[in-house]
Amino acid sequence: MTITVRFAPSPTGFIHIGNSRTALFNWLYAKQQGGRFILRFDDTDIARSKREFADQIEADLAWLGMTPDAVERQSERFGAYHAAAERLKEAGLLYACYETADELERRRRIRLQRRLPPVYGREALRLSESEKAQFEAEGRKPHWRFLLPNFGNDPFSTQRTEVHWNDIVRGEETVDLASLSDPVLIRGDGSFLYTLPSVVDDIDLGVTHVIRGDDHITNTGAQIALFEALGAKPPAFGHHNLLTAASGEGLSKRTGALSIKSLCEDGLEPMAVASLATLIGTSEAVTAVPDMTELARGFDIGRSSRSAAKFDPAELLVLNRALLREMPFDQAQARLAALGISDARAEQFWLAIRGNIEKMNDAAEWWEIVTSGPTQPVELDDEDREFVQAAFDLLPPEPWDGSTWKEWTGKVKAQTGRKGKALFAPLRLALTGVPSGPELADLLPLLGREGTLARRP
Ligand code: GLU
Repeated sequence: MTITVRFAPSPTGFIHIGNSRTALFNWLYAKQQGGRFILRFDDTDIARSKREFADQIEADLAWLGMTPDAVERQSERFGAYHAAAERLKEAGLLYACYETADELERRRRIRLQRRLPPVYGREALRLSESEKAQFEAEGRKPHWRFLLPNFGNDPFSTQRTEVHWNDIVRGEETVDLASLSDPVLIRGDGSFLYTLPSVVDDIDLGVTHVIRGDDHITNTGAQIALFEALGAKPPAFGHHNLLTAASGEGLSKRTGALSIKSLCEDGLEPMAVASLATLIGTSEAVTAVPDMTELARGFDIGRSSRSAAKFDPAELLVLNRALLREMPFDQAQARLAALGISDARAEQFWLAIRGNIEKMNDAAEWWEIVTSGPTQPVELDDEDREFVQAAFDLLPPEPWDGSTWKEWTGKVKAQTGRKGKALFAPLRLALTGVPSGPELADLLPLLGREGTLARRP
């Protein structure tokens, strides 16, 4: 059977780096297993789901290097959910409830006072047809709960019912169905919560592995029961740890903080984001992996740790720098061209500066410095100015190459007696306008003799 996974975001906001971790775990797993990766939009919440968010999620995945084999939308599959709900109703496994939120809360408090677990007591199961008719006549609309298989003959006397699965991330997992309330599958307004549609889709789409955050572990217990109630074999499950902000707070789709879109707009490399989102919170070292094929090669889904991983955005920049430092010209070429860096010097320029930039866009400022001169006023004191003037008089004739700098500064040293910082710092300042940057031996041939002389103070 083809391994089939799905990434199932609700398009109610921009996905963040934590959501991308789920997508990556699924995608990398599929890639390793030669499987299929489905992008499924959990958009049953018509009011909050937006097409623009769905489109952005697809664009975010593409930017990170993930192209789904299929895109599905729950909003187009309501027929299948209604059919499944009917089957459950006929089997007596989906029952109508009429409690208001206040009533439920009051009952919950009473159960807590009596030291009973605060789960739903299935009171609605006792309603007679005439009581239900009475509620309907009052204008109450039922919500529908799934009767969990956590009892022998009497649903009011639940018993410990363990659901086990061998989690592909966490190993053996157990959920006791008696510790759960019968989940509401359909709201009073007739809309579906996520629980049933997800199971129906996983069955219909042939999903073999459900890989998602560990906030779904309890849910998995109930969903396994639902798969079985619908006569299907449950898929394998894997629950990875979640990412939190440095404060320990969970990341939220609603705030837009650390959204993939904003990281992309910030000029970060997609592989810096993908590497960190995948490797953080695992027993692997967090390194900048240059492409998805290599990330998949080293990926081991079982190595993610059990506790939440703190995510520090500063790490993204460290990885970004590392990726750029190693990036071959052919990979940078198109993006440099988009920054207006495309003449014959582009390759040499890239190799000279790639180790000194934080983000690709920083190349533009160095290009300006190389082609037009310092972008900031060069401030030299009188002594240094005279020194630089004298040094410029010693510039060798062209052709210039990587050894010109050494040849020139050797002469300057012999003539002026200056060495070390006193020799190099004023020259760097005069040539680039800034106190640090790429190797001058690499920059000098790019400036050329004429370009260099134009910087004479
Ligand atoms: N829409 C659900 C979520 O984002 C999907 C969970 C799942 O993968 O089943 O949490």
